[in-house]
Amino acid sequence: MDDPRSLPGDADSSLVSGNDQPCVVPSKILNGRKPIVLPNSDIDGLLECPVCSSSMYPPIQQCPSGHTICFDCKAKVNNKCPICRKEIGNIRCLALEKLAVSLHLPCAYHRLGCEEMFPYYTKLKHEDQCVFRPYSCPHPGSDCPVTGDVPTLVAHLREVHKVDLQTECTFNHRYVKKDPCAVDNVSWTLTLFHCFGHYFCLHFEAFRLGGEAVYMAFVRFMGEESEARKFSYCLEVGGNGRKLTWQGVPRSIRDGHRKVRDSHDGLILQRSLALYFSGGDRKELKLRITGRIWEEL
Ligand SMILES: [Zn+2]
Ligand SMILES: [Zn+2]
Ligand SMILES: [Zn+2]
Ligand SMILES: [Zn+2]
Repeated sequence: MDDPRSLPGDADSSLVSGNDQPCVVPSKILNGRKPIVLPNSDIDGLLECPVCSSSMYPPIQQCPSGHTICFDCKAKVNNKCPICRKEIGNIRCLALEKLAVSLHLPCAYHRLGCEEMFPYYTKLKHEDQCVFRPYSCPHPGSDCPVTGDVPTLVAHLREVHKVDLQTECTFNHRYVKKDPCAVDNVSWTLTLFHCFGHYFCLHFEAFRLGGEAVYMAFVRFMGEESEARKFSYCLEVGGNGRKLTWQGVPRSIRDGHRKVRDSHDGLILQRSLALYFSGGDRKELKLRITGRIWEEL
C-alpha cells in the first residue's frame, strides 16, 4: 500500500490524520483518478453543513472567508454566514465539490456491520436502503422513536411496551373487548413470537374502513423482506359453526404497521361478523384467533 505521507503539503495530510482506523490513500490521487478512502469521522466535519448538519451536495456555497454551506441553507440564514456573519454572495466551492467526488466513504452503518464503501454522491442513496440500517420500533401505539437492530428492539418491546413473547410457532389468542362499538384508530394488540430463530409480530387492530368498523390481524417479520418471504402464516377466526381463514406471507417490519393495514394484507373481519363469531348478546367482542407460522422449503 502507498504511504499516505506522499500527499502534497500539510493542508492535505491533515485530512488523513487522527483516524481511528487505517485509511487508504493511493498516490494516484494526484491525477484525480483513484478514489480517496477515508473513515467517516474525518469527512463528516469537512462536508457537513453548519446549518442543517447534513452532508453538502453541489452547488456547495461559500462565504468570502471560505466557510461553506448548502445552497438551500443559504436562504435560511438570509445570506449571512452563520460562522463569520459576512454576506454570502453566489460563490460556489468547486474545490470541495471535486474533492467530494473523489472520496470513497464507509456506509454510515459500518458499526452495525455494513462493510461497503461508496462514492460520496451515492452513499446517501445506499444508506436509505442499507440492510444494516436500524429498524424502527414495530410497536403500533404512539409513534415510538426508538430504532435499533432486532435484539435491541425485542428487549425494548418487552421492557418498555410490556409485549408478551411466546416461543412457539402456533398461537391461540383471545381478544376480548367490552365495548365493540368504540372502534378507533388506536385500538390494537401486539404479541411477539420467537420461532425458527427469528422474531415475528402478531398484530390485531381495530379501525374504520370506508365508515365501517373492521378488525384486522396480520403478522410482521422482524428482519428484511427477502428473509420474510421464506415464511408463511395462517390465521383462523370463527364461531357459531363458521370460520374465516387467511394465509399470508409475513411483512417485514421495514413496512410500517399502518402501511400493512392500509394494504389490507391480513385477515380482515367486519364488525357484524366479529360480533356474530363472539356469540352471546353481541354486546361484547370475544374472538379467538388461532394461527401458525411455518418456514417454506
Ligand atoms: Zn445545510
Ligand atoms: Zn463565513
Ligand atoms: Zn450500508
Ligand atoms: Zn417502542
